[in-house]
Amino acid sequence: MAYASALHCRECGNEYPIAPIHVCEWCFGPLEITYDYDAIGDAISREKIKDGPLTMWRYADLLPVNGENAVDIGTGMTPLLKADNLGRELGIDNLWIKNDAVNPTYSFKDRVVSVAATKALEFGFDTLACASTGNLAGAVAAHGAKANMRTLVFIPSDLERGKVVGAAIYGPTVVAVDGNYDDVNRLCSELADANESWAFVNINMRPYYSEGSKTLGYEVVEQLGWKAPDHAVVPIASGSLFTKIWKGMNEFATLGLIDDVRTKMHGAQADGCSPVAQAFADEQLHVKPVVPDTIAKSLAIGNPADAYYTLKIAQQAEGSTVGSTPDPAIVEGIQMLAQTEGIFTETAGGVVISNLKKLAEAGRFEKGESVVAFITGNGLKTVEAVQHLANPVNINATVSSFEESVDVESAVGSKSTSS
Ligand SMILES: *Cc1c(COP(=O)(O)O)cnc(C)c1O
Ligand SMILES: [Zn+2]
Repeated sequence: MAYASALHCRECGNEYPIAPIHVCEWCFGPLEITYDYDAIGDAISREKIKDGPLTMWRYADLLPVNGENAVDIGTGMTPLLKADNLGRELGIDNLWIKNDAVNPTYSFKDRVVSVAATKALEFGFDTLACASTGNLAGAVAAHGAKANMRTLVFIPSDLERGKVVGAAIYGPTVVAVDGNYDDVNRLCSELADANESWAFVNINMRPYYSEGSKTLGYEVVEQLGWKAPDHAVVPIASGSLFTKIWKGMNEFATLGLIDDVRTKMHGAQADGCSPVAQAFADEQLHVKPVVPDTIAKSLAIGNPADAYYTLKIAQQAEGSTVGSTPDPAIVEGIQMLAQTEGIFTETAGGVVISNLKKLAEAGRFEKGESVVAFITGNGLKTVEAVQHLANPVNINATVSSFEESVDVESAVGSKSTSS
């Protein structure tokens, strides 16, 4: 809070005091936090960060809240793993996996909600709410429980079981809306207008909430030895995560913690919901909304709120791309990551790995260049997408039944990633 001095409109620059608002009254542009970077520069250093907590709150100076009162369930400082097996398979010699699926509710959404819940308490709200594509519901429900807030989560009614249960267990009111995420979001915008005492993390709290995603960028830079990667492969739903990883890395450069950022940003979508990839291919900055139809439900936003800013970065950061892949390749990507690196990701991670493969095949990565693939959610939440691959051999509890039925040779050391 000390360093977040105001809000400003990303379009017309109009300033607003820190408040639970998200759109400009003049031009309806989105609001963004104004920081006092000179003061942050005086306060921050690599050493101070290194001595901080082993959570995302080590970067509290760059978040728009008072970190001392954080609603913290242990989010962040997730592993950045060298992925030599997957790299060999794809022909990438310096590949890293940022495994953000190991956060407390098993997705990167804990980062944004930890900030939003903290800010909601600062503002004096007693109700925490969200419009969710799935993972956000779990994160909001868990943080609402920790913060002793009344909690309401709105989800599309066709969501995966793992995500419904993974939210319901924390005791929120779960509202399943007949419709897709874009319908849920529209309903929630209306409810947010009508209920001013509710903190909707991704509506009226959005300027604060979205800043939490910057910590993924900070962490990767710190974990690479204070260096931005040459390439980042990032899943896109609303586009917020993509823009904030870029923003976070560039803030570190602004503050003199690292050299200039030359990262090539690669956005990843599913063919069945690829409005940003389509606009990028057409060299447009505005998307044509689509009706999503893909197994990657956590990324199924047909009219992404931050598409414009995502496309601006992708078009301006030289060598960047936004692409998409079909559902079967997404399943193959899930399988490939699991069988090479021992990491089970959800469909959004399958989108990232399948797009990574496509980029490698297109020769986008030079020898030695560091490539970071962002894995943002856990596979046990989307078992529906891969359960057809689980076919145990059934036997009687006898040695002879085992010997008759089980072909051990073909299983041991089997490196095949095909089904
Ligand atoms: C929400 C989500 C994203 C992307 O979110 P943005 O809306 O683009 O910020 C990526 N992966 C997973 C697993 C998600 O739940
Ligand atoms: Zn404005």
